[in-house]
Amino acid sequence: MCFYLQVLKRPFIRIFAAFAAVVAVLIGICSLKSDASILNDTIRVAIFKNAAAVTVEGEGLLAAGDGGVPVRFETPASVRQVGENLVLDGIEQKKLVFASAGILLINGRAYRGKVEIISTDKGLLAVNELQLEDYLKGVINSEISSAWPVEVVKAQAVIARTYAVNRKIARMNAPYHLEATVMDQVYGGYATEDSGSQRAVDDTAGEVLTFDGAVIQAFYHSSCGGRTESSENVWGMKIPYLEGVDCKYCFQNRSVSWEMRIKLKETADKLRQAGMKVANILDIKAGDTDSRGRLANVILVTSQGEKSVKAVFLRKALGYGELKSTNFTVTVADEEAQFSGVGNGHGVGLCQWGARDMAAYGSGYREILSHYYPGTTLQKLHETGSPGIPNAPVGF
Ligand SMILES: [Zn+2]
Repeated sequence: MCFYLQVLKRPFIRIFAAFAAVVAVLIGICSLKSDASILNDTIRVAIFKNAAAVTVEGEGLLAAGDGGVPVRFETPASVRQVGENLVLDGIEQKKLVFASAGILLINGRAYRGKVEIISTDKGLLAVNELQLEDYLKGVINSEISSAWPVEVVKAQAVIARTYAVNRKIARMNAPYHLEATVMDQVYGGYATEDSGSQRAVDDTAGEVLTFDGAVIQAFYHSSCGGRTESSENVWGMKIPYLEGVDCKYCFQNRSVSWEMRIKLKETADKLRQAGMKVANILDIKAGDTDSRGRLANVILVTSQGEKSVKAVFLRKALGYGELKSTNFTVTVADEEAQFSGVGNGHGVGLCQWGARDMAAYGSGYREILSHYYPGTTLQKLHETGSPGIPNAPVGF
């Protein structure tokens, strides 16, 4: 018999040991709970917004209404908005939660986890709540391709996880943590998963990037065109690991170059729609460059004189998908502007096409991540310290 069991034979020591064990378990549960609620388990993603109706199907589909009360309904469930409430089979609710034994089909698209449908001023909001690791498997192929070299797919898994955890911390009390679009990370759900995306997520399970013990703001973009941008130039916020690095890789891809043509009149219209007061535009000229070589501002020559507009604002007004970066030259002929540029996206953080070529030339995902986020550390989520972090604006 071991010494420990002998000690337990004494009544007082036995009672003390039992009490200590209960306290230890409680402390364990409490610390697990605080960690888990912030850094682990699930993530909430807005998959449909401002919808007039949401249809839900699934094997063994169950629903709970206000106060968690089970709701009976015909399948497929058809939820509509009536006034401030939502309606399912004639019964009004403020909120409905659907869960299934397998995959949920929401408006015909497949998702893991459960879905919460909430009535808002602008229509129905559908929030998919699922395990963080499962969510990542539905992001990979929407952001890059899992057919890319495996090390860049792993790097994408880490930054998608890091980004998601960072947003979850920042939006802890909001109805959802992430948009399913380029506003955050594009999330296609279960249908976009494949063995490549699953492997990259599993091989990096729980890994996030940290700086000074806090989960970083892992911004990333499609291609930078030779040099990544500093966060300060885009959002006015200096972040040590987002000051910009050289990227000799993405420049080798032809897709990095782009052109955009737009009439001067249409340019003025779009600027006005974005909230800028501007007279008729006669000419457009490049303004100053920022510390990373991109255009900081553009000069509009108008019928009422010259006016400077921030290049970041011009992108927003003309469309992020059209004016693909602030790394461009501009010429005007026949009342039409021609923008010729390189790079796609805000340019901050990891350059996906550059990371792809780093992997193709033999770099591992750790090397790729430390190149684009200098000074950061790769850690398992449960090993990270305080999640307290500044909240920077999101853009793309
Ligand atoms: Zn690049």
